[in-house]
Amino acid sequence: MAFSNVYFCNLRTSMKENLPTKLKRLIETAGLKEIVSVRNLVAIKLHFGEKGNAAFIRPILVRPIVDAVKELGGAPFLTDANTLYAGTRGNSISHLITAMENGFAYSVVNAPLIIADGLRGASFSKIRIEKEVIKTAYIGKEIVEADVLISVAHFKGHELSGFGGTIKNMGMGCAARKGKLEQHSDLSPKVKPKKCVGCGECVDHCAHQAISLREEKAHIDPEQCVGCGECILICPNGAIDVQWNADIPLFQKKMAEYTWAVLKGKKKKSMFLNFLTNISPACDCYGHNDAPLVPDIGILASRDPVAIDQASVDLVNQQIGSAGSCLTGCTGPGEDKFRGVYPKIDWTVQLDHAERIGLGTRGYELVTI
Ligand code: SF4
Ligand code: SF4
Repeated sequence: MAFSNVYFCNLRTSMKENLPTKLKRLIETAGLKEIVSVRNLVAIKLHFGEKGNAAFIRPILVRPIVDAVKELGGAPFLTDANTLYAGTRGNSISHLITAMENGFAYSVVNAPLIIADGLRGASFSKIRIEKEVIKTAYIGKEIVEADVLISVAHFKGHELSGFGGTIKNMGMGCAARKGKLEQHSDLSPKVKPKKCVGCGECVDHCAHQAISLREEKAHIDPEQCVGCGECILICPNGAIDVQWNADIPLFQKKMAEYTWAVLKGKKKKSMFLNFLTNISPACDCYGHNDAPLVPDIGILASRDPVAIDQASVDLVNQQIGSAGSCLTGCTGPGEDKFRGVYPKIDWTVQLDHAERIGLGTRGYELVTI
């Protein structure tokens, strides 16, 4: 079995070395110098947090990464792609405002913020990959155009993939709206008739004439719909939503294949970090975060996107479940905390498939710095 190095720093600090300094040492040890060259444009992909969520990575801990890239002559920017749903990050304007309100100001992070997929999520590059499920992926253009990609993921539970780490941050997080929709749903969005007031805004907006009004309710013709997802944002009443019924293993496979697409041509120019802090049960896309499942553990860095997620899930499961969390079972050391929260979700699918398509290896050596 192949092994990749996964570098780990715990959260112990001293007068000699605080956490930002230790984090900088972590990424330098993991090989930052090997991926960043002078004048490289460096995308630091993270999640700015939905408004009201408090579990996302603290901006002051993103700054040491920015500063380390600048020291090597790179030009870093912080980035994420817009969301599918009509939350506070569904277009570039509300996304940037949310990011700044969550503390990602230039004065704190020392780098500009650039949304990866344009004003409404329609700016993407088509990446041909010809994998088992995905043949062409739609990735945020600014991420594709960057010379270097550093993924900075908050590791936590996830309602569709069991956990969300590097693969989620890459495969789903870098996809433009069309790519997110492709992963989330095999079909077009659906209308919730009870919420639809028949205003017709979606009918006017749909560039593919896929929506009509029937008895004062919107109706989407799946034959006409191209799955761009724009009507989800346009509806002022939240009456159009993604079909969240996609087969879960299929969803995880798609996410792994999208990660492959994001890294196409960048394998030697990428690094992955997982923050095992505030390990909440669900995605940072919600406007709240429930109590952490386990105590804070530390930060991981690796050049292998599969090994780092495997190491992260193992470290979480070695912990004792926090008494004040939503966990009612699987609380002992070695028990699966993510199965404890989502008993029907087999999170191993994303790792198995990622390894099978050559994204990385589930075998790892944990190197504590
Ligand atoms: S925009 Fe929303 S409320 Fe208006 S017709 Fe379309 S689905 Fe119904
Ligand atoms: S997803 Fe796009 S193409 Fe499909 S109905 Fe909505 S706006 Fe039209």
